[in-house]
Amino acid sequence: MIAMRGVNKWYGTYQVLTDVNLAVRASEKIVLCGPSGSGKSTLIRCINALETYQKGEIVVDGFHLGDQGKTIDAVRREVGMVFQQFNLFPHMTVLENCTLAPIRSRGIPRARAEETARRLLDRVKILNQADKYPAQLSGGQQQRAAIARALCMEPKVMLFDEPTSALDPEMVKEVLDTMIGLATDGMTMICVTHEMGFARQVADRVIFMAEGRIVEEAEPETFFRTPQHERTRKFLGEIL
Ligand code: ATP
Ligand code: MG
Repeated sequence: MIAMRGVNKWYGTYQVLTDVNLAVRASEKIVLCGPSGSGKSTLIRCINALETYQKGEIVVDGFHLGDQGKTIDAVRREVGMVFQQFNLFPHMTVLENCTLAPIRSRGIPRARAEETARRLLDRVKILNQADKYPAQLSGGQQQRAAIARALCMEPKVMLFDEPTSALDPEMVKEVLDTMIGLATDGMTMICVTHEMGFARQVADRVIFMAEGRIVEEAEPETFFRTPQHERTRKFLGEIL
């Protein structure tokens, strides 16, 4: 579903990604972790073309990201993204947030887009918030609205960038439960998160990054029990 081969990226002269190779199969769940500044956000932003890269190759569902124009639109439609700060449109209701892209960029008729949106808001358990504005929702509800909005585009892959880091502790679980539900339904997912309980429960593979490189990857059981690299052990020592 996703292949990154020899991907290198620089911000000016600063190399932020070095020789990243990553293959993700359909329905696979990846947890990506690593210290602040290691390039996790940059890596996943490359996958939905929010960032460009200078060397290597990224292929998403058969689309080569290097090709410009149409490919980028196609890839953005297939790859849903959820951010730490929700990024909902503040001047639109939850329902309008969910129907905007399907109507504008997929040309779906409003009535059908609303039907889909209501179904997905129900799935993330906030259908009763559909006509409210984001500011009227709790953080956990806003994040679930953001997940529903991404799902309305019927993505084949979902990318999560620390979706629970901005939430109060009591709201973390409702968002993680939503993500677990998605995983159970077979969604292909890459999740940047330091929620190691989630990683143990859901991930097929945990990938550890440091200084722009993939340092280590393993099944969660192995990753947590017998980390191979000193850098990984240090990181786990700090967060667990
Ligand atoms: P965090 O855990 O803090 O979110 P991260 O692993 O997601 O960190 P990135 O946000 O990918 O890290 O950033 C990787 C490095 O690239 C950092 O050193 C950061 O300062 C740098 N960087 C990120 N975005 C830019 C940018 N637009 N211009 C220049 N440097 C950037
Ligand atoms: Mg980040």
